[in-house]
Amino acid sequence: TPPVGVLALQGDFREHLAVLRGLGADAVPVRRPEEVELVSGLVIPGGESSVMDKLSRAFGVAETLKRRIGEGLPVYGTCAGLIMLADRVLDGIRGQQSLGGLDVAVRRNAFGSQTDSFEAELDVPVLGEPPMHAVFIRAPVVDSLGPEARALATLADGTVVAVEQGSLLGTSFHPEMTADYRFHQYFLDKVAARSSLS
Ligand code: GLN
Repeated sequence: TPPVGVLALQGDFREHLAVLRGLGADAVPVRRPEEVELVSGLVIPGGESSVMDKLSRAFGVAETLKRRIGEGLPVYGTCAGLIMLADRVLDGIRGQQSLGGLDVAVRRNAFGSQTDSFEAELDVPVLGEPPMHAVFIRAPVVDSLGPEARALATLADGTVVAVEQGSLLGTSFHPEMTADYRFHQYFLDKVAARSSLS
């Protein structure tokens, strides 16, 4: 069976590789178009979305990623990775592009400089009990969702911080930084479900 990939242009891809391997997956770093073609699923890590965007275009992987996302490749984006998956990016730096796929508008650095980072207990109905301890670092939020996208988790004030649409999954926070890997497992289950179809 093909491996799952972690986009390894920038950001905390090593942590995601370790989590996925810990869950028993064959996980490989992905930087080049040929590598994008080989994987059965992809994690896009946290980091800095404007840099990841520039590198993905400079390395020539952006077009291949967009095509595979359009074909239904399961992709899980965390934080900057969620921004990369969003069809619309609010407060992006000048000229910032995204890969798209998720019919959502995402606002970068939505909690502002007063609240660079924080932690919260999140109810995530698709993951069941217990609530998830979530770490937010200069995090984006989902500002609005199109009809195909569904919210998986919200903060107490209703702000959407996890979203799913078909084979795509995105979280504003960083599950690779806690010991709760249910979102990674949820992603691997989507990869397995899709692989068993083909
Ligand atoms: N603020 C970053 C961005 O805009 C995301 C931060 C993160 O990934 N922890 O890409």
